[in-house]
Amino acid sequence: GVNARTPLIAGNWKLNLDHLQAVALVQKLHWALKDAGHEEGSVDVAVFPPFTDLRSVQTLLDADKIPFLLGAQDLSTHDDGAYTGEISGAFLKRLNVAQVIIGHSERREYHAETDEVVAAKVQAALRHGLVPVICVGETSEDLEKHGASAVPVGQLEKALADVPAGADVVVAYEPVWAIGSGQAATPQQAQEVAAKLREVVAATLGADTAAKTRVLYGGSVKSSNIASFMREPDVDGALVGGASLKVDEFAAIIRFQK
Ligand code: PGA
Repeated sequence: GVNARTPLIAGNWKLNLDHLQAVALVQKLHWALKDAGHEEGSVDVAVFPPFTDLRSVQTLLDADKIPFLLGAQDLSTHDDGAYTGEISGAFLKRLNVAQVIIGHSERREYHAETDEVVAAKVQAALRHGLVPVICVGETSEDLEKHGASAVPVGQLEKALADVPAGADVVVAYEPVWAIGSGQAATPQQAQEVAAKLREVVAATLGADTAAKTRVLYGGSVKSSNIASFMREPDVDGALVGGASLKVDEFAAIIRFQK
């Protein structure tokens, strides 16, 4: 948006790309941005590979001084112990992971993650100095019954209920009906809900924090629609799924023109 916040373009790879493919994509993306004369630092770029890719991608970012933030797609509410299959915030932090997606609609739907689980994961992330990228959004049914903002606002209030003022978080507004459907929300809807989500951040974490917090839009973002979202004052970037898997397309999204 048109404001002082550094835009954040985040690529959520979901269950795609093994560690070799992941390294190849990050390398190519870095070259594509360099070739295009992209100015480093004008936009924060984050990639969220599967867990098994994190170490390889971290090694590449480090060795080639590639200025992308490393993100994880999930974390455990627990820090250690008898929790088979779980990954702790501490382990992620040791890999230089900076951000972690929490409450994505696919986890809410397929892994029965409730608002309580989401809130506990936000706490776990903050405990380990990871920035939670808190995903909220309405289904098409919610949209018909309650309008666009009621459900995401309620989800965010619950996620932030016990978070201390001043905490460093990112909020992603992702209408469920827009994810992977090719049918993005309108920039007007994204703006309307993003503004309400920022009000929730102000009420829970304080006005100063709300002014600094990035609110992203996600759901069928592509190079052809990113600029229209970025023109909105409360939209500070995008959480990109499908289009983040294609080098040229993701590079073009990162290089959006306002
Ligand atoms: P999409 O996914 O860009 O493929 O719609 C967005 C997301 O789920 O974060």
